[in-house]
Amino acid sequence: MRYLILFGLALSLAAQQPPAAAKEDHGDDKRGYTDTPQIPGQQWKVHDAARPRPRKVAPGTPLLNEAPPADAIVLFDGKDLSKWVSLGRGGTTSEPKWKIEDGYMTIPPKGGRLATKEKFGDCQLHVEWMIPSDVKGAGQDRGNSGIEIMMRYEIQVLESFENVTYADGQAASIYGQWPPLVNASRPQGEWNVYDIFFEAPKFEGEKLVKPAYVTVVHNGIMVHHRQEILGAAVHRRVAKYTPHGAEEPLSLQDHGHPVRYRNIWIRKLTPYDQQ
Ligand code: MG
Repeated sequence: MRYLILFGLALSLAAQQPPAAAKEDHGDDKRGYTDTPQIPGQQWKVHDAARPRPRKVAPGTPLLNEAPPADAIVLFDGKDLSKWVSLGRGGTTSEPKWKIEDGYMTIPPKGGRLATKEKFGDCQLHVEWMIPSDVKGAGQDRGNSGIEIMMRYEIQVLESFENVTYADGQAASIYGQWPPLVNASRPQGEWNVYDIFFEAPKFEGEKLVKPAYVTVVHNGIMVHHRQEILGAAVHRRVAKYTPHGAEEPLSLQDHGHPVRYRNIWIRKLTPYDQQ
């Protein structure tokens, strides 16, 4: 009887509660978002759920692990991280913790962001990367890393062969701004290659006088053709420029996933009569 009374009390209390408001659906990292700001100059919002995904194109056989050009600055040849530092909070640096084995490096747990000791402006950059076959997760949480040119303009690294996410956040996107022209991703466990051609932005004091432009070739397929970069990569916000040096380090993002890198080299693009 006592239980019946308690049950009745619970029922009457429940009846007094106002009906729960329907939970608004703002999206997620897999489908994209509906509540993000408009990207200036585009018809889409940042990480727009309605933005179409680029079509998939199976690349041919990309040239992998080839010798760099004679005048390239080799940033990682599979043996050591002497050209890199680990970036901590507040700009502190320490010895890199990324793990090297069999000619590649892997982001270990709490590996930290890796940045070059040397700084670069206009450049040609070659990077090979792989999402190991045992990496799981969905959306932005599956093999996420990134090539952060000048430590802020991110060409996304993500598992995008099978994994769905918002178009401006998939592999080879200019993160939060431009999806790649096509999805040239190779499956997990296989190496991908980016060849990136970058023009640094120019500032006069606080003012941007020339934006950055980038051309990206993913596995032999052009996916950005001198695309204008709208500013530093940000999540769920509109990218904007903040003045910085004419040259800045290159960094590799640690997003907590064991992504692998190898054969990283860079060439500074200096006018021929100034070299
Ligand atoms: Mg990333």
